[in-house]
Amino acid sequence: MAAPSIAGRPTHTQAGQPILYFTFDDGPAADTPGVLAALARQAARATFFVVGGRVQSLPRTLQATLQAGHAVGNHSFSHPHLAGMPEADFLFEMNQTASAVVQAAGALLPGGRMLLMRPPYGSHDEHTEPWVNALGYAMVMWDVDPEDWSMPGTEAIVTQVLAEVKPGAIVLLHDGGGDRSQTVAAVEQLLPALAGRGYVFHSLHPDEQ
Ligand SMILES: [Zn+2]
Repeated sequence: MAAPSIAGRPTHTQAGQPILYFTFDDGPAADTPGVLAALARQAARATFFVVGGRVQSLPRTLQATLQAGHAVGNHSFSHPHLAGMPEADFLFEMNQTASAVVQAAGALLPGGRMLLMRPPYGSHDEHTEPWVNALGYAMVMWDVDPEDWSMPGTEAIVTQVLAEVKPGAIVLLHDGGGDRSQTVAAVEQLLPALAGRGYVFHSLHPDEQ
């Protein structure tokens, strides 16, 4: 059965440059524009996993994210743990966010719908990915997690990401859920440093498997 997946994402461009996939969860939020500005300065593309309730509050921020060429994925409506959740509640979380995104920025969304999903906290059980796939989404976890949400300091975020990245890695960061000024500052340092190592920064796009 065909299910969208990011498992086969490229690790390098055709020209041989290593690719990193930066992802930002829990927005749209007050620090999203700072992240967008840092990405724009480096001509970087990223992926934003948005919370439906936040989309309803800040539709223009979502529009700006899509207008800048970034991918957007579903990160639920109310940010619950999905492990153990009944299917009806799961469907409500996914579909309410899909509706919020279409209402806020559907005309800007390639294909008119989201194709990526990340479970809040990474929380999932044996049902979650099949349910996600049945809705036409690829479920996306991560490879590098500097726990920026805990505000460990800009240098700690930068140091851990630089130490752990490798070609094709998905980096987990947060543009929402609290004060993300450390994350913005870290991205401002990380992108030029990683570009200096030859990396380019792409959004995620699932393949049909
Ligand atoms: Zn989250």
